[in-house]
Amino acid sequence: MTALCDRSATELSAMLRGGETSSVEITASCFQRIEAVEDRVRAFLARREDAAQEQATAADSRIASGGAPAVAGIPLALKDVLSTRGVETTCGSKILDGYVPPYDCTPWKRLKDDGSVLLGKTNCDEFAMGSSNENSAFGPVHNPWDLTMVPGGSSGGSAAAVAAGEAIWALGTDTGGSVRQPASLCGVVGLKPTYGLISRYGLIAFASSLDTIGTFTRGVRDAAMLLSFIAGKDLLDATSLDTPRRDYTEGIDGGIDGLRVGVVREAFGEGVEAGVESSVRDAVDRLAGLGATVGETSLPHTDYALSAYYLIAPSEASSNLARYDGVRYGLRVDGADSIEMMTRTRGAGFGAEVKRRIMLGTYALSAGYYEAYYGQAQKVRTLIIRDYEAAFSDFDVLVSPTSPTTAFPIGAKVDDPLAMYLNDVFTIPANLSGMPAISIPSGLDEKGLPVGVQITAPVLREDVLLRAAFALEQAIALEGRPRLVTDLAA
Ligand code: GLN
Repeated sequence: MTALCDRSATELSAMLRGGETSSVEITASCFQRIEAVEDRVRAFLARREDAAQEQATAADSRIASGGAPAVAGIPLALKDVLSTRGVETTCGSKILDGYVPPYDCTPWKRLKDDGSVLLGKTNCDEFAMGSSNENSAFGPVHNPWDLTMVPGGSSGGSAAAVAAGEAIWALGTDTGGSVRQPASLCGVVGLKPTYGLISRYGLIAFASSLDTIGTFTRGVRDAAMLLSFIAGKDLLDATSLDTPRRDYTEGIDGGIDGLRVGVVREAFGEGVEAGVESSVRDAVDRLAGLGATVGETSLPHTDYALSAYYLIAPSEASSNLARYDGVRYGLRVDGADSIEMMTRTRGAGFGAEVKRRIMLGTYALSAGYYEAYYGQAQKVRTLIIRDYEAAFSDFDVLVSPTSPTTAFPIGAKVDDPLAMYLNDVFTIPANLSGMPAISIPSGLDEKGLPVGVQITAPVLREDVLLRAAFALEQAIALEGRPRLVTDLAA
């Protein structure tokens, strides 16, 4: 029998309503799994078993009295860059060690008010900067499919927790791919909605014009369900979009007959592993088999996206991270005067990658260089948006691999930042342009590691995106779970 913690939220929500199980049981099942595998996976930075059981008990009585929202009683994990009132939030950084936010980020506030259960906070690359989770100040996360491999990043803990059955679903953040890439490497569904669809209030900022909260789920329908509860205008985030709240699961099973699917030519070039290419091409054939019209399209400025991102994101980060000065929160290392105190605090509190980005960003924004770097990168950003506009005049959705490779060994790329950055080459364009994109598992490569296929849709066309992804998911029905999980059942 499938353990409760291995089931989808859609299924559990129906079971809860039918009185077949309780939130207390589901929550206990998640903690049992955490107990069984967490010493090897290390997805969590903080667990809150007692508080979660209290929330579960409250959810159960709410469900029993009828009319509870569909997310009530479903246990969730949150990436540790999302502020949680009264629960330590570190961003995977020593500089925020011990910091307890006095308020909740909006998506968690909404879910909490709707009866959701918080299992704990998940490990991530420091301040969400990374693609492998190895930049966390609290040690790496291990990929449940192969513990010697990275889970991807930066939201690696959230992805691994969902893959290993430690959480039913989770939230992460995606600034350049940090939801989609780890979802791809861990064999789960990762959705990055349109920029601004989900409020960023309480999301500790990395690069504000790119940061997007996204979901990790076991299936596309779960992603649509979770999105329905967290999307929508928030007066606390001026950049949140004024869209009406809606049920994104509606119409998800409408099929894709006649849908125009563009296969991105640039996404099958050098550096893409053969196992990734063949799995994604296979997914494209399946889309055609489902009645979609498939053609080739081009995003000609893809080559420049990575460079533009690595100017824009560090520039914004250098400004956002100026607030960590030892005065207001987290770590403080004393010094003879305030300047020395701040210098020492930042020197001791930030890891190597964060320092690299702050220096890159500060340089790119400095007088005399601003136009040549930041200004130029913003122009490239406009070209990328135009590429998409042109592609979407011919196609409804675009398809590419999510990541050029499957999971790689822990330690393999730590000394080579450029090789690490290249992992995001297919995910970054959707952040630069604000488009919604999703990664779903398309199969396993010859090493038995999950491959992800990415679908991208025009701004605010989450409906088309989810309908296409759902249809493809039904056609693929990825068999297999991480051995870590199947071994437990044996
Ligand atoms: N890996 C990318 C980076 O290091 C993206 C990170 C993210 O999306 N948060 O910046």
